Order: sequence, then C-alpha cells, then structure tokens
Amino acid sequence: CGIVGIIGNKPVAPLLVDALKRLEYRGYDSAGVATLMDGKLDRRRAEGKLSNLETELSHHPLDGNVGIGHTRWATHGAPTQNNAHPHFCEGVAVVHNGIIENFSEIRDQLKARGAVISTETDTEVIAQLLASLIRNGKAPKEAMAATLKLIRGAYALAVMFEGLDGEIIGARNGPPLAVGFGDGEMFLGSDAIALSPFTDDISYLEDGDWAVVNRDGVEIHDTDGNIVHRTRIKASSVH
Ligand code: GLU
Repeated sequence: CGIVGIIGNKPVAPLLVDALKRLEYRGYDSAGVATLMDGKLDRRRAEGKLSNLETELSHHPLDGNVGIGHTRWATHGAPTQNNAHPHFCEGVAVVHNGIIENFSEIRDQLKARGAVISTETDTEVIAQLLASLIRNGKAPKEAMAATLKLIRGAYALAVMFEGLDGEIIGARNGPPLAVGFGDGEMFLGSDAIALSPFTDDISYLEDGDWAVVNRDGVEIHDTDGNIVHRTRIKASSVH
C-alpha cells in the first residue's frame, strides 16, 4: 500500500500513477487518484491492478495540477471500487494507509448527528470529521489538527480541500511519509522510491507530525502544535 501527493505545474494524474507503480512492491488490492481542477475535486478509482486504474483514466481522463494517489491494502471493507481511496466528503479528499482503531465509535457518533456513511472503511470517518469541522467554521488546518486529536491508530494521510488549490496536508503516525522538495513543485510520498523521479531532496515526517504542503514549501507541526524542522536528506545518498 502507498500514498503519493503532488503539487505540480502540469497534469499530475499520470505522474501519480507512475509513483504508485513504484510502491507496488508493498502490495495492494485497489487504487485511486484524485485531483483539484479549478478548485473542484474529482477522482478515478479501480479494483485490482494499477493497469485497471490506467484503463479507467484512459476512458475518463483526469485533469488538474494538484493531486493525491493511493494503493489500498484493505483492512476494513472489501477491496471494491467504492471502498477504494480517495474518500470524498463535502469537498474533502482523503487517502490513508493504516488503521483507525476507534473508527466505529466515531462512525456511530457521526451517524447520530445525521452523517450518511457511504463506504465500509475505517478511513471514511477521517473525511467525515474534517468535513463536519469545516462545516462548523473551522479552517482546513484547524480541522486537521482537531481531527488528529480525535482519531487513534496508525496512519499515513494525505488530504486535499476543495477551493484550496495548491495545498495538501499530510500526517504520519506509524507508516512512513516523506515530503519532497522540487523546483516550484512539492511532493508527498510513502518513501523515497516513490518520489525518486521527482526529487532527491526529502524530509521524513516523525510520528505525530502533520505537514501543510504548498508551492512555497512545507510547514511541519508536531503533536503539541509546535512548528518543527525535520532534517532534509538527499535520498540517493541514503539508498
Ligand atoms: N484501513 C484502510 C482501509 O481499509 C487503509 C488500508 C491501507 O493501508 O491501504 O481502507
């Protein structure tokens, strides 16, 4: 399973798929990509191999210079197209690797407040929580900080928000997640291999970190809300 995010200067859907191919070695059962185009979210998802996602994209191309991608190893919910990530809820798009341990309590609370749950996954509660916090007036960053306090478990996350072109928020607690620095472009990825065609200049997030990535760079926060600096490494000199 794997995660990738790109804030780029040309259509990113094919680049996201290429990066996901480099994460195939981790195993997966379905895949998907979402992009932001003129402030609007759209996505393509497919069961099975990445070639199925590529076929889907060839029939229904996805434009947009900012996007996130995911290969899923299902833990909660069958490996169907509907359970494949990215998950959408009211203008929030989420990809997640890992397990949200308290998802059923959160899902029950959301349902009691009228939420309509549309997948069998643990991940959907993240999109639902973010959407409900934004609906109640929180800015995306505040919604992310609040959501990370509510969920328990292991995660690497990448999130996009409709109307917020050029920004992706990532978070890590367990599965690895790296920020990649390009020239006027920025990246997120599960590892240096995923990002290797794009950049060699990366920072791994530490557990509990979350990162606001935009064209200007990255702002990394730790669990206590402090802005922190994580070492930038040259990936090629490590591997
Ligand atoms: N627990 C999530 C799901 O089943 C994410 C699985 C993964 O790591 O790909 O959808």
